[in-house]
Amino acid sequence: MISSSIDNFLNNFAQHIFRRPQPIPDLMIEVTDKCNLACPFCAQGDLQRKTMDMSRELFYEVVDQYIQMGGKVIRPYSTGEPLMCKGFLDYLKYARSKGLEIRFTTNGQLLSEKNNRQLLEIGVQNINVSIEGLNATEYESIRIRGSFEKLRKNLKSLLDLRDTLGLKEPVIRIQTVLIDGQQNNDYLKKFRTVWEPFCDSILFELCGSQGGNIDHELGVISKTDRTVCKFFFNLLCVNNDGTVSCCCVDYQRNLVVGDLKTNTLSEIWKNQKMQHFRQLARKKKYEEISSQCPSCTSISRSHSQASEYINRTGTFPVSVRLSKPQ
Ligand code: SF4
Ligand code: SF4
Repeated sequence: MISSSIDNFLNNFAQHIFRRPQPIPDLMIEVTDKCNLACPFCAQGDLQRKTMDMSRELFYEVVDQYIQMGGKVIRPYSTGEPLMCKGFLDYLKYARSKGLEIRFTTNGQLLSEKNNRQLLEIGVQNINVSIEGLNATEYESIRIRGSFEKLRKNLKSLLDLRDTLGLKEPVIRIQTVLIDGQQNNDYLKKFRTVWEPFCDSILFELCGSQGGNIDHELGVISKTDRTVCKFFFNLLCVNNDGTVSCCCVDYQRNLVVGDLKTNTLSEIWKNQKMQHFRQLARKKKYEEISSQCPSCTSISRSHSQASEYINRTGTFPVSVRLSKPQ
C-alpha cells in the first residue's frame, strides 16, 4: 500500500516535471524599436518600418508565459533604446513583482535622476550602458545626438543614489565597441581611466556586423572561421508586434520563427522551424538559414576569440586575425 502510494507520487511528479515546458535560457523583449540616438555603426537607423512601443498587454502576457515555463531572467530591450518606451518602468515593475531578474542595455542618455530613483525602487539587477569615446568630441561624433556631459551626470547620479541607499544593485557595466583607431592597448588603458569611476565593470567588444545588417570589414565570414551560433539554442527575442525571432540582432525580421498571436512561447521554442534552424546551425550551413547569418560576426571564431582575449587580459591581441578572412 505504502509503496504503491510512493510509486503514484513519483509517477505524478515525473509527469509534472516532464510536461512542464522547458525554460528558454535567454529571453529578450523588444519593448520598443525607437531610439533617441543615431549611431553610425548601428542598423537601427536603417529601419524602414514605423517604429513603435510594445503594448502593455503583450509585455505582461510574455512575462506570464515565461514564468509558466520556469524562466528566471529577462532582457527587455533589443533594436532600440528601452527607456524610449513610454510604459517601460511600469513594465519592469510588473516583471519584478513576478520575481523575474532584469538586465537591460541602454545608451544612458535617459538615466535621469527621476528614472534612476524608480529603477532602484523597482530593484533592477543589471544595467549595461553602451559608450564609445574618451571625451565629448569623440563621444558625440559617434553617439550622434547624445551628450557626453549628460551621460556622465546621469551615471554619477545613479551610482551616488545607489550608494546613499546602501544598495549593491543594479550592477552597472559599461560596454564599448572598439571602432577603427581604438583597437590598441593605449586606447583600452585610456578608456578605463576615463570610465572606471562611472561603473562597476567594463566590457570591450570589437565592432561587429550586427547580424550582417551593417557593412563591416569582415564581409562574409569564411567557412573555416565559422562557429555554431549559440543563439539558436539559448535565445528567443519577442518583437514589439508579437512576432518572435531566434536572433538578438534581427533588425529586419529575417529570422522570425513564430508569432504570439497564434502560438505560445513554449510552442515556438520547440517548433519545426526552430528544430530545422538548429540542425542547419550545427552543420554551419548558414546560407540555408538566412541571408544575414553568413556575414554575422557572431559566427566568426577569430572575432569572438579576440573579444574574449581583450576582456581576459585587458590588452589588445596581436596574434588573432581581425580583418577580412581569405
Ligand atoms: S547603438 Fe543603441 S543608441 Fe545607438 S542608434 Fe543603435 S540602438 Fe540607438
Ligand atoms: S548567426 Fe544568424 S542567428 Fe546567429 S546572431 Fe548572427 S544573424 Fe543572428
